[in-house]
Amino acid sequence: MAGGAARELEAVLDATVDPVIACGPDEHILHVNAATERLLGWDREQLVGKPVTDLFPLRLRRFHGLSLPRYLLSRRRALGGRATRVFARRRDGVELLVELTVGASGTDGWERIVLTMRRLHEVIDSLEEPVEHIPGGPDTAAHQETADRLYQLLVENAPLGIFHFDRTPIITACNERFASVIGTSKRSLVGLNLLTLQDARIMACVRESLDGRSCDFEGTYRALTTGKETPVRVRFAPCYAEDGTVEGGVGIVEDITERRRVEAEREENLAQLDLLFRGAPVGIGFLDTHLRYVRVNETLARINGIPAEAHPGHTLPELLGEPGAIAERGPRSVLRTGEPLVDQESTSDEDLGAPGPRRCFRGSFYPVRTPDGRVLGVGVLVEDITERRRAEEERAHLYREAREAIRVRDDFLSIASHELKTPLTPLSLRLATLERRLERGEHLDPSVLSHARHQLTRLTGLINDLLDASRIEAGRLALHPEATRFDLLVEHTLGSLEGQKGNHTFDFEPPPEPISVHGDTFRLEQVVSNLLENALKYSPDGGTIRVRLSLTDDVAVLSVTDPGIGIPEDQQQQLFDRYFRARNASTRSYGGLGLGLYISRDIVERHGGRIWVESTPGRGSTFYVALPTLAAARPALPQVWPDRQLH
Ligand code: ADP
Repeated sequence: MAGGAARELEAVLDATVDPVIACGPDEHILHVNAATERLLGWDREQLVGKPVTDLFPLRLRRFHGLSLPRYLLSRRRALGGRATRVFARRRDGVELLVELTVGASGTDGWERIVLTMRRLHEVIDSLEEPVEHIPGGPDTAAHQETADRLYQLLVENAPLGIFHFDRTPIITACNERFASVIGTSKRSLVGLNLLTLQDARIMACVRESLDGRSCDFEGTYRALTTGKETPVRVRFAPCYAEDGTVEGGVGIVEDITERRRVEAEREENLAQLDLLFRGAPVGIGFLDTHLRYVRVNETLARINGIPAEAHPGHTLPELLGEPGAIAERGPRSVLRTGEPLVDQESTSDEDLGAPGPRRCFRGSFYPVRTPDGRVLGVGVLVEDITERRRAEEERAHLYREAREAIRVRDDFLSIASHELKTPLTPLSLRLATLERRLERGEHLDPSVLSHARHQLTRLTGLINDLLDASRIEAGRLALHPEATRFDLLVEHTLGSLEGQKGNHTFDFEPPPEPISVHGDTFRLEQVVSNLLENALKYSPDGGTIRVRLSLTDDVAVLSVTDPGIGIPEDQQQQLFDRYFRARNASTRSYGGLGLGLYISRDIVERHGGRIWVESTPGRGSTFYVALPTLAAARPALPQVWPDRQLH
């Protein structure tokens, strides 16, 4: 080039507003204009001869094995004359965002590479500067500008981080949100080569998008400088040039820290709920709006008697048949009214299908709604209250028994004092009479003596009963068994009561053959005598007392039948309890401590026998005593007697 022409060109270039740099084929600077000096802060002389790549940050110097100018030259076609945004390095190290255009002329040794820069004062995604300079005619320019503005608005206000990258792949633009997700400034992000992130998965997505396909990345972004970790989800998508080729890509970044936290929290909550659901001792299930099970826990499955996995998709009647249709009434009513139905009690007899003994359940049904109130189905809670019921019944029973025991004790105290006192008054009267007569030397009436003796016998009998009862309680009532003729014993006892029977008649037929037992004669007589005395006491004067003794399968059975007041059905079981007196045997009409049958039962049972009663109130009673015969010599009787009658 002639010196004049060169100077002329130099002058023209100096007059150019934008920085221009010319290089030789080795990319060393041959010439820079005044604008370059101004922009980069170097003197022309200092720059000439330097590699042009020195004017760019280290990270932007090589792409795909090519220097920045060569790379941009290779992409000239794709860029279609458009500038590329890059950072230029000022002398003082500050990086400036510039638009760079690279051109070349000449070949071989005469090749000239010309770089033109334009300073971008505003960051590129500001409203004043469109992100892309898309070529268009004057008609479309205004329209394009509006579109760009809208796009900018969108990008800046999007709740997501957005960045653009070119094919390099260098980030060419981004919004504030992206910068804040990454934890750095927009300025230091634009111009960043994504390769420098050194993340194979991100690069795979970048490549995908540059190949024209969208791609999702989810992972933790670790800031290279601060090391701060941010869980992110990034959608990479290709950006197309006018001619339809992929000129770069866009990344849409979502900071999923909060979502991850919420998800983790939700998972934790779900795990807790699931644990409760599975382990709850209460049956829990969900029915949809067609009353089909959605899920049930193990407890409900057990209650229904069907495996949990067999429930989903089926209605209660489908699973349990007719009882299921009854059980479905609760949930159905909830669907109809939208109101919960709480604490409905039922038993397995009626409406539940699990086989086994009768069980009691308490069911509650609730409408399950979405937050906006739409009913999704019915929640079912079923509690097996069989045990609780049983415990309640048991408690009530014990309470009744305790009250009864108190009543019996109170009755006993008043009866006992009354009974013990009754013979004392006539006894002391008669003794006083005897005393008087003796003093006066008068004749002694034997009937006074015999009456006194009778009262004394009665008193002794009562006291003996009390003593026997306390011996039984203490387990100290001694028996002296021996071979005993039971038939004779009965006959003898009948004879001993002749004096007491008044107008009653004893109807006794001795058995055809002798009956022997292994027993305590005195105590067995006490039993027979007690039954006969009761028969006399509780039946009207003049009645016939029927006494029978029979032998069946080595068992001697004595029965004493009277035409007396009988015993109320509900009290027959308790007759043999200590101090028990039936309510129809009032103290005023019938004396007694309620001990005779208690003592009799103990004696009979300790002989290996049984005692029981059959009675119709108002019509009379029959008391039975069954004893093993001597021949049987068994410790206990076989269970040939109906349970109901055994005591
Ligand atoms: P008591 O001394 O009160 O007669 P027992 O133990 O002999 O005591 O009898 C208990 C209760 O059984 C009696 O109070 C009475 O209510 C009832 N009882 C016993 N024998 C008869 C009977 N033959 N007829 C009706 N009730 C009877």
